[in-house]
Amino acid sequence: MASDAWFVSPWTELEPARGHLLLPGSGERGSRPLEVRSHHFPIGRSELLLEEYRTRDAGLFTPCLLVLHADEVNARAAALLTIAASGGRVLAVRGGRRNVSLRRADGTWRADPNRIFTPRGRHRTLQELRPEVVMPPRRLLASLAELARAIVTLATFEAHGVPWLVAVHTNTPAGSFSIERFLAAPETENDPGILAGRANPGLLPRSRGKDLCLTTSAELFHRLTGRTNVVLQRTPLPHALDDGSLSVWAGLHGRNYLNVETEAPKYRLDREAVLRSRKLLDVALGVVREGL
Ligand SMILES: [Zn+2]
Repeated sequence: MASDAWFVSPWTELEPARGHLLLPGSGERGSRPLEVRSHHFPIGRSELLLEEYRTRDAGLFTPCLLVLHADEVNARAAALLTIAASGGRVLAVRGGRRNVSLRRADGTWRADPNRIFTPRGRHRTLQELRPEVVMPPRRLLASLAELARAIVTLATFEAHGVPWLVAVHTNTPAGSFSIERFLAAPETENDPGILAGRANPGLLPRSRGKDLCLTTSAELFHRLTGRTNVVLQRTPLPHALDDGSLSVWAGLHGRNYLNVETEAPKYRLDREAVLRSRKLLDVALGVVREGL
């Protein structure tokens, strides 16, 4: 892995949106400079780019915000503006589309960067996107495993105590992902001893069903109930539900995981969606920072 670094203003990164993305009424200017460090991962004949943004006052106890899908530009904007306002780090997969493209002598492979965190997930994502191949090459599977390890290490290497993995995602208005999807779903925690009388998922009345938090931490679930739509994922998940996503990995390894998910279009910055994502991040990170 090769790395280089420089400084930018968050507004340079989010051109041409400029100041239209400031939280209204907060008085913020969002002017903290961000240090950018680019990490290049060669895989086959391709190179994958991970960008790490940080403020000088990032602090050891601030969780890194992970943006794994390059097409979710509103998730990236919300994450960058959140750290510009409050300090912190962001790690974002850059370039290309949602699935990373991996060119090799045997052709081009594609993988969803949020399906590479377990062996089963890596196998499935490569095969789903190239169904004519029964067994993806071992070398490619090993490269994706290394990439997954590097993402987790970069996101948590500074964290002390119990590290948090915080992912920021968006889902499209046309997609089926929403809090209602988790009602009686096999991945939804249903142990009465853990839920202590609370409904899982916790639905916020009159809220947007596609804006939600998903976590592997029962304590965070309890603290977020009534403040946002929230679902507690079973940990660890049964093998059949292992799709290779970071939440599954976190559950298997006893890590605290939080996914902040907002409805937003892909590729195009949308002010209202960025503001909703930022507000949800503020609520969720506020609870994480309180120390649980
Ligand atoms: Zn995503």
